[in-house]
Amino acid sequence: MSSIAANIDEIQKGLRQETRLIAVTKTKPVEALQEAYDAGNKRFGENKVQEMASKYEVLPKDIEWHMIGHLQTNKVKYMASFVSLIHSVDSFKLLKEINKEARKNDRIIDCLLQIFIAREETKFGLSEEEAIEIFTSEELRALTNIRITGLMGMASNTEDESIVRAEFRSLKSLFDSFKKYENDQIKMQELSMGMSGDYTIAMEEGSTLVRVGSAIFGSR
Ligand SMILES: *Cc1c(COP(=O)(O)O)cnc(C)c1O
Repeated sequence: MSSIAANIDEIQKGLRQETRLIAVTKTKPVEALQEAYDAGNKRFGENKVQEMASKYEVLPKDIEWHMIGHLQTNKVKYMASFVSLIHSVDSFKLLKEINKEARKNDRIIDCLLQIFIAREETKFGLSEEEAIEIFTSEELRALTNIRITGLMGMASNTEDESIVRAEFRSLKSLFDSFKKYENDQIKMQELSMGMSGDYTIAMEEGSTLVRVGSAIFGSR
């Protein structure tokens, strides 16, 4: 077994049934993705649109592509035909653009709102209030080619597990509280949290999607 296959196997064994693995492949060559695919992983996460689009071109078509990186509106069109979930929506403007490009492709694109939970200033994301503003906005009802299917968050980059756990717990509690906004367009189904260093904690705190890169493919 290749080390990529062995790593995927090892991680899969430790996951709960309700938590799915996204193999984060940014900066990795298509050969590495093909190896992960051959090992049975069909869910990939990328943080740059062009890189994801060029990998999409050459790899099998039953792969689920997840956009997990900060997104500029002018890039949405390059992935609108095939992206399966956009984790990193952090503005209403971006949601409108995704809706426009989804409509052109005659499809509905699922999106997660990225929520700011870390102590660090550098991480992107919405506050609770900003998310509520989006859920309750009149304009959202017109965006019939997008669905908001949950939340994404990144914990602080710290060795202190109790901080990480508390941040994940606060995101889960927000996720639960947002169920009151559910309708045709808003569903709290997916909670995307956890990376190589903290996915076990995230899983214990209720993650449904863990985004794991270096623990599978080695450091970047
Ligand atoms: C790179 C990245 C990951 C994966 O990070 P690892 O530490 O390599 O597992 C997860 N989420 C996002 C948003 C990323 O950019």
